[in-house]
Amino acid sequence: MEFHYSESQEATRKLARDFSAREVAPGAAERDRTSQFDYHLYHRIGELGISGMRFPREFSGTESDYLSWCLALEELGRADMSLAVTLFVAVSTGHQLVEMGTVEQLREWSGPFIRPVAEARATASAAITEPGAGSDTASIQTTAALQDGYWVINGAKAFITNGGLQNNVCTVVVALTDRATGEFSSILVPAGSPGYSVMPAYQKLGWRSSDTREMVFEDCRVPAENLIGQRGVGRRYTVEKLFAEARINISSAALGLHTACLEDSLSYARERVAFKRPLSQFQFVQGILVDMALEAELSRLLRDKAARSVDEGTVNRTLSSMAKYFCCESARKAADRAIQVHGGVGFMDECTVSRYYRDIRACTIADGTTEIQKWIIARELGC
Ligand SMILES: Cc1cc2nc3c(=O)[nH]c(=O)nc-3n(C[C@H](O)[C@H](O)[C@H](O)COP(=O)(O)OP(=O)(O)OC[C@H]3O[C@@H](n4cnc5c(N)ncnc54)[C@H](O)[C@@H]3O)c2cc1C
Repeated sequence: MEFHYSESQEATRKLARDFSAREVAPGAAERDRTSQFDYHLYHRIGELGISGMRFPREFSGTESDYLSWCLALEELGRADMSLAVTLFVAVSTGHQLVEMGTVEQLREWSGPFIRPVAEARATASAAITEPGAGSDTASIQTTAALQDGYWVINGAKAFITNGGLQNNVCTVVVALTDRATGEFSSILVPAGSPGYSVMPAYQKLGWRSSDTREMVFEDCRVPAENLIGQRGVGRRYTVEKLFAEARINISSAALGLHTACLEDSLSYARERVAFKRPLSQFQFVQGILVDMALEAELSRLLRDKAARSVDEGTVNRTLSSMAKYFCCESARKAADRAIQVHGGVGFMDECTVSRYYRDIRACTIADGTTEIQKWIIARELGC
């Protein structure tokens, strides 16, 4: 196993780190306070080539390796979790179109959907969760029926990231296409399709400048050609491929936040004096910092191993679940510890670590909860 990054991976990391420090971090607290999404900042990600990393050259991409993409996400997550989430949801949705689309579909979808997402001129969303079906994706009730050359979609989706952004060009909807056999398919629904409505944004604990909405489909009609790939592969692709990679994406953003917690805590502990000594000289405080550093290091090993499995050809689902479980839970503990090290000021909105604490909370839920990751790993162990 490799324990170091290649020259080009280091270069990507530096590019994303410099961008995050110079352009992302300065406005992150204000975007969090106002729940505003910064379209110009998002477009900068495209200008730097970060949003194109997962796409082939013919779709404005750079076909970079997957671990490099994870390093870029890590640096964005370190500065602003909401921005990282917006990006990886949009990119994995666009990437799904590239992976599953037919030659004709790719020709058709390149201009309106794929290239704009790769260039970060647009976002996209993936709608799987429903008010009555979250972890249990087999209980999805949204239906899509073929009528006169159109899919007619009916149902509701909950907690959908990017759904209400002005630059959202499409949503990939997972729907029941045959209730009798339990067949699920993925269907591309362009923004503005008749019968497709997006509800007001949820008010959230964290990820505040990431857009999250409920979506409603009432006799929503899209052409039959908008079926992505073949009938019946929608849920399988989502569960086996989309989620497995999404879990490594979110692990990367969580690792970035974890690193930020450690760095902020270290510098505060060195500066803050109590009992005539810097906090960093007290062994109990050192213990907190050591646990944060150790778990960040272990998270990195797991995330890298999971990401390298994608680069080797097939995402390892068990490793992806292990990374998701460990990186997100460790980052959650790191944010809690960071507040403890900061004392009272850590509880105040003016202190960055209080945002980290709120932002990390969704990471152990979205893209599959911690309990579901444990279940997946236990099944692999043969339980
Ligand atoms: C900010 C945010 C953004 C999101 N973005 C998207 C998006 O873009 N697209 C999308 O489709 N979804 C999205 N989601 C939804 C997310 O994927 C679901 O919230 C998640 O899968 C959990 O589903 P649920 O909320 O219905 O919880 P439930 O499935 O109801 O689970 C509730 C609790 O029960 C536990 N539980 C459930 N089943 C089991 C079991 N078998 N064993 C042990 N414990 C179990 C869970 O771990 C959890 O603790 C988002 C969620 C959030 C919070």
